[in-house]
Amino acid sequence: MALAGPGDCADLNALREHIGDCRRCPLSAARTCLVFGSGDPHADLMFVGEAPGKNEDLTGEPFVGAAGHFLDELLGTIGLERSQVYIANMVKCRPPGNRDPEEIEIATCSPFLARQIELVDPVVIATLGRFAAHFVLGTDAPITSLRGKLYRRGGRRVVPVFHPAAALYDGSKRGVLQEDFLRLRAVIDRVARGEDAEPGSSSSPGGSEGGDA
Ligand code: URA
Repeated sequence: MALAGPGDCADLNALREHIGDCRRCPLSAARTCLVFGSGDPHADLMFVGEAPGKNEDLTGEPFVGAAGHFLDELLGTIGLERSQVYIANMVKCRPPGNRDPEEIEIATCSPFLARQIELVDPVVIATLGRFAAHFVLGTDAPITSLRGKLYRRGGRRVVPVFHPAAALYDGSKRGVLQEDFLRLRAVIDRVARGEDAEPGSSSSPGGSEGGDA
């Protein structure tokens, strides 16, 4: 019989158990905690970040450092709390010194994220930063050209935004993120009103691939 893979996990708890005390890639060597993800396991809105940082590595929770505080603030501006969304990262262990995750690390870890997305089954995915946008959208286009637009993948709406940490280094990105979160709210509201038909159908406002969010 074939060994069980992420696709065999029937829920998030089973997936977490499947990942176990993971030693599948070099990131495991220096990690304190594996950061699986958190929030509403059936959220309509899922955020995909990049990788745990120092605080996340210490606590096992995603986005609890400075970038996480800004994410909370952004969520607040669109009337949402963390408990209403699900948050996970591209890779589940902290890259040493917060360096970018490497291809082999992403390739090893991304099947777990892919299964998390299937299990949470969100209507809308907001990708935070370029790594998440590239994975979810299957592109390597620059994040500057992806953000501000709306995509559809596998029946889900995808809204790429800058990583909140980018605004901590470059203050001009704060306003851009705030605008993009307002767009995200508008997408969620359109979906909730049932005004989000497939492109090509008679009622598809803002529905085209890479169209305005
Ligand atoms: N940045 C991320 O991409 N994810 C986290 O969990 C924290 C910071």
